[in-house]
Amino acid sequence: MAKKCFVTKDKVEEIIKDIPTPFHIYDEAGIRDNAAKVKDAFSWNKGFREYYAVKANPNPFLINILKEYGCGLDCSSLTELMLANELDVTGDKIMFSSNDTPAEEFEYAAKIGATINLDDFTHIQFLEDTIGYIPKTMSLRFNPGGVYSVSNGIMDNPGDAKYGFTKEQLIEGYKILKSKGVERFGLHSFLVSNTVTNDYYPTLAKTLFELALEIREKTGVQLDFINLSGGVGIAYQPDQTPNDIGIIGEGVRKVYEEVLVPEGMGNVSIYTEMGRFMMGPYGGLVTTAIHEKHTYKEYIGVDACAVNLMRPAMYGAYHHITVLGKEDAPLTETYDVTGSLCENNDKFAIDRKLPKIDMGDILFIHDAGAHGFAMGYNYNGKLKSAEVLLKEDGSYKLIRNAETPKDYFATFKGLGIIDGLC
Ligand SMILES: *Cc1c(COP(=O)(O)O)cnc(C)c1O
Repeated sequence: MAKKCFVTKDKVEEIIKDIPTPFHIYDEAGIRDNAAKVKDAFSWNKGFREYYAVKANPNPFLINILKEYGCGLDCSSLTELMLANELDVTGDKIMFSSNDTPAEEFEYAAKIGATINLDDFTHIQFLEDTIGYIPKTMSLRFNPGGVYSVSNGIMDNPGDAKYGFTKEQLIEGYKILKSKGVERFGLHSFLVSNTVTNDYYPTLAKTLFELALEIREKTGVQLDFINLSGGVGIAYQPDQTPNDIGIIGEGVRKVYEEVLVPEGMGNVSIYTEMGRFMMGPYGGLVTTAIHEKHTYKEYIGVDACAVNLMRPAMYGAYHHITVLGKEDAPLTETYDVTGSLCENNDKFAIDRKLPKIDMGDILFIHDAGAHGFAMGYNYNGKLKSAEVLLKEDGSYKLIRNAETPKDYFATFKGLGIIDGLC
């Protein structure tokens, strides 16, 4: 089965004349359509807000699109907070869901009024020692431990995850926060990543809604918001059925009405922190085939590498590849598609059935919009690529320049290296 590209070969060739490969390209129409659907899916909940997870793709042009749909931002580092603030996303429109948090990050988050979502029991004291008070709004991150199963055998191991409070710590934590004058309370949990099932959020919501009742019973704290965080996945494989956010929103509404409403908690706001679901399918990595190699296997070398998209190297993740202009050609070859890093895991695909690739063919690597460019690094002195936005009207815009050697050498300043080299 094939996956469709959101951009035509002709358009890509036009862009390449201006911006050489490799580059990431994003689909404005797709981002907008999806963001509108997310908003609609949870419109039954008065306080609903999607806090887009900045780490998935921090490009300000893309964030500004999401802002139009009422999204806040989920940040987990100083620079992500600074970026949010710079984009006029401030106060309770920022969720600060960090872990192993340095003092300066709590200081900055408090200064700009972000909602702080604590990852650990000891951070209550650490936060108070750091900023001198406990903010009026506070959220706590829950980790139930053990194994968490959803449906179709999808599961993860929260018990092995470094995040969150145990249930006992959570109960104690809310008591302490209450005694310190907190007025608005939240509960957060992120238990399974990249779930391709409409059941994850509803299942998680049920766990958290029931926990909310237990928290009220044991501490007297009535939660104001419940944050389902990220984990809503996308169909990387062409034969997977994508999630339907409308069905997911309805599923959450059903448990909300079953568990919370009868208990007089029908004004709890639902928050989400989706990253992958908001951006993943709406980005592609465009790269050119520059070498072929015939040894013990058949290799195609491209001009992108794991520095541009790390997921295959890091997780063995599948990213579908379309050879532009050969969408309907038979899949007669079996290739490893590689980048140029001196690392044997620098492969975008292993034993992939593809049409015959000729040198100069353009490859579109799908679903690179989230955790793609953003995970980039500079190993082997490789430079980060440009980013391009395919606008709704079909025109395109360069939204990030490719790095140059000068950027790479910039932090060596003072050694005089830059002046000599660039
Ligand atoms: C990574 C992350 C997200 C986003 O996860 P996705 O799977 O991309 O939706 C949300 N919240 C927190 C705290 C995260 O670390």
